[in-house]
Amino acid sequence: MTATTAASAAYIVAGLLFVLSLAGLSRHETAKAGNAYGIAGMAVALVATVGLAWRDGDALAVGLIAVAMALGAAIGLWRARIVEMTGMPELIALLHSFVGLAAVLVGWNGYLSVEGAGSSGGGAGEAEELGLPVGIHSAEVAIGVFIGAVTFTGSIVAFLKLSARIKSNPLVLPGKNALNLGALAAFAVLTVVFVVSPSLGVLAAVTVLALALGWHLVASIGGGDMPVVVSMLNSYSGWAAAASGFLLDNDLLIITGALVGSSGAYLSYIMCQAMNRSFLSVIAGGFGNEGSTTGAGTVEGEHTETTAEEVAQLLRDADSVVITPGYGMAVAHAQNAVADLTRTLSDKGVPVRFGIHPVAGRLPGHMNVLLAEAKVPYDVVLEMDEINDDFPKTSVVLVIGANDTVNPAAAEDPGSPIAGMPVLHVWEAEHVVVFKRSMSTGYAGVQNPLFFRENTRMLFGDARERVEDILRAL
Ligand code: NDP
Repeated sequence: MTATTAASAAYIVAGLLFVLSLAGLSRHETAKAGNAYGIAGMAVALVATVGLAWRDGDALAVGLIAVAMALGAAIGLWRARIVEMTGMPELIALLHSFVGLAAVLVGWNGYLSVEGAGSSGGGAGEAEELGLPVGIHSAEVAIGVFIGAVTFTGSIVAFLKLSARIKSNPLVLPGKNALNLGALAAFAVLTVVFVVSPSLGVLAAVTVLALALGWHLVASIGGGDMPVVVSMLNSYSGWAAAASGFLLDNDLLIITGALVGSSGAYLSYIMCQAMNRSFLSVIAGGFGNEGSTTGAGTVEGEHTETTAEEVAQLLRDADSVVITPGYGMAVAHAQNAVADLTRTLSDKGVPVRFGIHPVAGRLPGHMNVLLAEAKVPYDVVLEMDEINDDFPKTSVVLVIGANDTVNPAAAEDPGSPIAGMPVLHVWEAEHVVVFKRSMSTGYAGVQNPLFFRENTRMLFGDARERVEDILRAL
């Protein structure tokens, strides 16, 4: 068996392991195994790639790969160990930006070593070595650089929004839809020009255009739609990797990129359906949505405060309790105290269930992971659709650090920026207790009329401390 055949076989094995990984990650029970398959696949892929470079006798390439891997692994290990779970989405956004940047660099390298070296005679020969007419290679370069640059700046904006370094409100430039469509049309024209007559200037124009488009696409999307944006950028990063795979003639990169690209696109589609958003509108930077008529700060009224002792009394008298956790529970690390509260109430004969909104927290499945970690049994943790009809029959709802996902404006105010997004109908319960530190808005920056309803009581303070106070009072 030659080294090339062995590498191809290793790539097929790695590709299969990546498929098994995706399948495993789709369910709680198999997620750990899915992760292990992914790690194994990546290890096989790395060994095969380094082995090929070794076979070619390119000691410098092997040395550079070894240094890059050691550096990357050290930084990756350090970041993964210190990152808080609430910081995962921004870390993921930053990692997507690296994939985009890598695709841009691979594209530029492809141009410089083929079309750019054409005049010295070596370039076209190199393209032919890859079995490609130069025109197809040029198209791959333009497309790869375009997808990579859109992913790069889009992910940087997502990182800045998710880490609250810039506001999550949508940027509404006049004629923003025309700008996006114009940029796509300009890209198509530039690609044709680049294929006919490749030049540094045209490639630079494609790069700048794509960088600006990526920035604008994500800046135009409001906070409420960020979960879809993160998975959409995940998909873009996959397509960027696949484009690099074509340029580098690496089959595994093409397969892996296509897997990430298509699964990310499908996840975005499912999330759009769950949030009642138009998939096309979100991937086109909020296309058709020129801004909502109402926003933050438009709700007025008196809110009523309560105390931990009063809430303990409410819970003692309750026939049924539903807890709807959100981002604040994660920030406060309140999941273990919440799990203790659940056990204490169950021991007292008060049934407790959880209602989980699909985008509660800051990453898909965030609340489920925290509750599983705190050993809350799976069977009392229900999805939004499974519990929404039960709120009118519920005595007490504890809204622990959730805001946007329980906002009645989404269901009742057509002018709200989150109008149409399905939410947990907590306000239909007999009593609602909201745990938060202040009257400030949630991630989408939209005021919440729930806080001013007659059956709502506000329990201010850190969620973990307040739940512990209730436990003591019980
Ligand atoms: P929100 O982000 O809407 O609200 C969280 C609430 O928690 C805030 O109102 C905050 O109020 C409160 N809070 C913060 N820290 C504490 C603390 N220590 N103790 C008590 N309360 C605290 O949360 P939701 O989970 O309801 O909604 C998630 C939002 O994030 C949605 O808009 C979603 O679109 C978005 N998003 C979701 C992603 C995902 O994949 N799940 C990814 C990216 C964004 P206060 O400051 O007054 O305490």
